[in-house]
Amino acid sequence: MPISHNFDGGNIYVIEDSNSKNIQLRIREDASSCFFQWFYFRMHGLCHIPCNIEIQNAGGATYPRGFENYDVVYSYDRINWIRHPTNFSNGILNIQFTSLQDAVYFAYFAPYSMERHADLIARTLSFPLASLRVLGQTLDGRDLDLIKVSNGNNLNKKKNCWFIARQHPGETMAEWWMEGALEWLGTQNTIERNSLLDLCDLFLIPNMNPDGSYRGHLRTNAAGRNLNREWGKPTMETAPEVFLVKEAMSKIGVDFFLDIHGDESLPHNFIAGTEGLINWSLEKQHQLDFYKNALKDINKDFQTEVGYPIKERGSANLNMSAAQIASQHGCLAMTLEMPFKDTLENPNKTLGWSPSRCKNLSISCLQALNQYLKSLII
Ligand SMILES: [Zn+2]
Repeated sequence: MPISHNFDGGNIYVIEDSNSKNIQLRIREDASSCFFQWFYFRMHGLCHIPCNIEIQNAGGATYPRGFENYDVVYSYDRINWIRHPTNFSNGILNIQFTSLQDAVYFAYFAPYSMERHADLIARTLSFPLASLRVLGQTLDGRDLDLIKVSNGNNLNKKKNCWFIARQHPGETMAEWWMEGALEWLGTQNTIERNSLLDLCDLFLIPNMNPDGSYRGHLRTNAAGRNLNREWGKPTMETAPEVFLVKEAMSKIGVDFFLDIHGDESLPHNFIAGTEGLINWSLEKQHQLDFYKNALKDINKDFQTEVGYPIKERGSANLNMSAAQIASQHGCLAMTLEMPFKDTLENPNKTLGWSPSRCKNLSISCLQALNQYLKSLII
């Protein structure tokens, strides 16, 4: 078969009656669950041969609307990921492609492998202000990495600001976001970066779900748990990732929290707040509005018009990270969603929403945090 997927983050299943010019595929479900949408595979040995690739079960995926007006990404070098016109009809995702090389990779979004994660951590630790703490191990025995970025100055009352990414491992844009944030924090010796580090210590979990990432999952960890439904009472047996991070947060404290995600369907960047909390207040609303508006003013890829429906007071789901952290720590806690497709406001036909745009947005999020922390002082 001209298709392979048995690598870091790979996911596809080849249907038996495929042939080299008519390739029939299915996306594998996450282990011990029924979620599926993430795919990542290599096609080889079909240079200059027009191929018809069909993902037969796309219509039954967790978010089938995610495939409407969606274009797949492909790459020859696994560095540059380019959009390719893709058709979705009768539940089948269809890619007509003629490869110009002996091997080409296809994915739902630009992948972020665990090898790249290891590179990111190693590179980050060469920055003088960054340090690593391994919070513990996942069910597959992988390290859960926490990066702290601090200027070491503890004279004033600094805030503890947390960012976590990739609870849902198929949302690889979240770790591209982290790469941008860590590079900016580590290398940009600017007034703005230094002002931020005078106001807070930053705690970043670049990958909350290493097992799901390696296994090529969309939403769950090795035990089939959706980590963003485990924040109420996590256990080491089923969701050690959440248990360990929540424990570290309780010890260190949380004054600001942003959970980084991707949304399969909506072609926008947006932030979801925790308006559903029973003690939601005007003060909390002002804080949320301040951050969202600051981010909108800084980055034209971010908007505040479209997003999830706002929850009614008292209807918050405390098993989700932002609601749990806001409730437990009384701080501004939010969920950032980025698109798999593109932004309607600022479309890019060649790349769609892309790693470089994720990285730009992360810098803007840190700049908005700087403004937000200053606003608390005034
Ligand atoms: Zn998510």
